[in-house]
Amino acid sequence: DTRIAKISSVIRVIPDFPKPGIMFQDITTLLLDVGAFRDTIDLFVERYRGKDISVVAGVEARGFIFGPPIALAIGAKFVPMRKPNKLPGEVISEEYSLEYGTDKMEMHVGAVQAGERALIIDDLVATGGTLCAAIRLLERVGVHVVECACVIELPELKGRERLGKTPLFVLVSSS
Ligand code: 5GP
Repeated sequence: DTRIAKISSVIRVIPDFPKPGIMFQDITTLLLDVGAFRDTIDLFVERYRGKDISVVAGVEARGFIFGPPIALAIGAKFVPMRKPNKLPGEVISEEYSLEYGTDKMEMHVGAVQAGERALIIDDLVATGGTLCAAIRLLERVGVHVVECACVIELPELKGRERLGKTPLFVLVSSS
């Protein structure tokens, strides 16, 4: 698909951000290219349309950029998976480990119902810890996670293996 090469070419890599040694994949330059941004959304929509998905769960923060246009196009609701203490209503939360310490992800109680079919969206999968927390949150309330989808995968960090039985779909692999 020629669209993939274009998308890959407009993702900017910024060395040593946010700290020395990290090659940060910056998707803001993808958002500046109207055609590439549209193609990104279209590629996901082509994959998930007609798959009986009623929930698109977007991971804060960049899952909030890609998730909503996909949700609208496939006729699913959008559910934000947020950093702690951001959601105003009653939440369920799931802890996950970072390189140093832990973080938490929260979702509103009542946003999804047992038996629904969900797609989880984020911009990038590295170790997979973030997506695993999102999967656990949804599965705890009886939702079936059909797949996780990201624009970029860093395959060396083996996030795909960490996700276990939940499939992962990505547009670009970056070494
Ligand atoms: P993981 O939990 O898979 O180790 O890390 C993935 C999370 O960290 C995602 O929410 C993603 O947005 C963020 N992240 C880690 N590295 C990068 C990067 O190089 N670029 C971007 N855009 N996000 C990153």
